[in-house]
Amino acid sequence: MNHEIDVQIAKAQTALAETRFTTYWLDSLGSVADEPALKQDAQCDLLVVGGGFCGLWAALQAREQDPERSVVLIEAHSVANGASGRPAAIMSTSVMHGIDNTERIFPNDVAELERLGRENMDSFRDTLERYSIDCDLEWGGEMKVSVGDQGLDTVEEDYQLYIKYGHDAVKLDKEAVQAEIHSPIFHGGTWSKQRCGTVHPGKLVRGLKRAALTAGVRIYENTPMLSNSQTADGIDIDTPTATISARKVLLATNAWAAGHRHISRRVAAVRDRIVVTEPLSDEQMQKIGWHNRQGIYDTRTQLNYMRLTADNRILFGGRLDYFYGNDTDPALDKTAQPFIRLVQSFYRTFPQLADEIRFAYAWSGPIGLTTRMAVHYQKYHDGNMVFAGGYSGFGVTASKFGARVGLAILDEQDIPETRMQFAKTLPNYIPPEPFRWIGAKITMYALDTLDEKGGWRKLWVAMVCRHTFILLCYR
Ligand SMILES: Cc1cc2nc3c(=O)[nH]c(=O)nc-3n(C[C@H](O)[C@H](O)[C@H](O)COP(=O)(O)OP(=O)(O)OC[C@H]3O[C@@H](n4cnc5c(N)ncnc54)[C@H](O)[C@@H]3O)c2cc1C
Repeated sequence: MNHEIDVQIAKAQTALAETRFTTYWLDSLGSVADEPALKQDAQCDLLVVGGGFCGLWAALQAREQDPERSVVLIEAHSVANGASGRPAAIMSTSVMHGIDNTERIFPNDVAELERLGRENMDSFRDTLERYSIDCDLEWGGEMKVSVGDQGLDTVEEDYQLYIKYGHDAVKLDKEAVQAEIHSPIFHGGTWSKQRCGTVHPGKLVRGLKRAALTAGVRIYENTPMLSNSQTADGIDIDTPTATISARKVLLATNAWAAGHRHISRRVAAVRDRIVVTEPLSDEQMQKIGWHNRQGIYDTRTQLNYMRLTADNRILFGGRLDYFYGNDTDPALDKTAQPFIRLVQSFYRTFPQLADEIRFAYAWSGPIGLTTRMAVHYQKYHDGNMVFAGGYSGFGVTASKFGARVGLAILDEQDIPETRMQFAKTLPNYIPPEPFRWIGAKITMYALDTLDEKGGWRKLWVAMVCRHTFILLCYR
């Protein structure tokens, strides 16, 4: 047994020997010139801090709602430096991290949140068409698959939820799921077919940047917010070279939790990892099926998710980790070692490719995780500065919705969404260091071993799910 594992590890090391430890999405697009950094003091009605999906959607929608409003966006590095340049980019209709998570956190609002999710996805699609953003959209649906028989109950529960809330979903038995995707470990699945699929997040984020510029947003890259302070008519934001005086500020700084020292009390920067293969040949594609090109996640506690890229690479993700002090750029993740177990999971999932596949890319990205695993809003400076974030692993399309509601909160608009629990209440505290690190490490270990060993791990993960600690077991 040990010998077998050693052989597998050696195989994984070889498959990672020529890997680029950077995001495929941006690397393969080539570089584009950054917008210039801010050099002089500036004024605006709205300042957005952070150039990921949430910040770009906020800036664009703010101008669309009121073309007279002056909007500035600053980004510490280049746009898409954070999670938005690095996701699997499986698109879901849910704005609260899946229907199962919505039931867990807001059981009384599921129907309305699902309706808002559908509306969000339709307006997401409209916006891309309006600005001619070509980003390899594929509407193959999202599919949850059971690994072995253990996850069949979860798949059934998911199916019932999809049907209850009006989704076009089908349940697949072992034969049917393996006909869709040829993995011997999948024993069943639920496939939701409408308003979900996959997108190229690099093309999407760059398209949104262009759209925001076209709509009149002033964007300054390589312009970090260093500090902020309340003034008589708004907020002053200091950057290394200049000060911006803004009437209102939307903080879209996700896992960085930048903007106020209290934000990170509720937001942990967790890493999630991805590997991407070389493009598959036609023969290799035949070996895996996957003609409908769904975005897929499995039911394991330490789950894996996977999708195809437009040029038929397999993107395979899902080994969570946490680095002390909410570290958003761990050096370890630019080496092969932390990706070996992910590659081993790939081999278990697609044994027919194990001897012939190389990984062209591997990277990790910062997930802004909260105990609710969904967007929330923290208000500072008498409500004139709002943090909007914490999408966890479901933010590619949910961020359009999250940004829209964030703007409404900032503008004190009385709309149905701002009266709902998700907008009015906060997720629980996450303990500070060193307890955060210790708790995260125990949780990661429990997640890794729960499916095989059960025991205390079940109780620990259940406690984490129910109470104040970081929650990692749903996606
Ligand atoms: C590995 C991985 C896989 C994922 N898979 C999926 C998926 O399949 N489907 C899905 O829907 N979601 C997925 N997600 C989640 C999704 O990517 C995020 O929810 C989403 O990108 C969050 O966008 P954001 O704008 O809130 O944050 P980010 O994209 O992280 O943007 C925050 C930005 O703020 C900037 N910033 C920070 N501090 C400052 C400062 N002081 N001054 C100025 N700028 C600052 C950062 O540089 C960064 O660019 C995944 C995430 C990861 C990491």
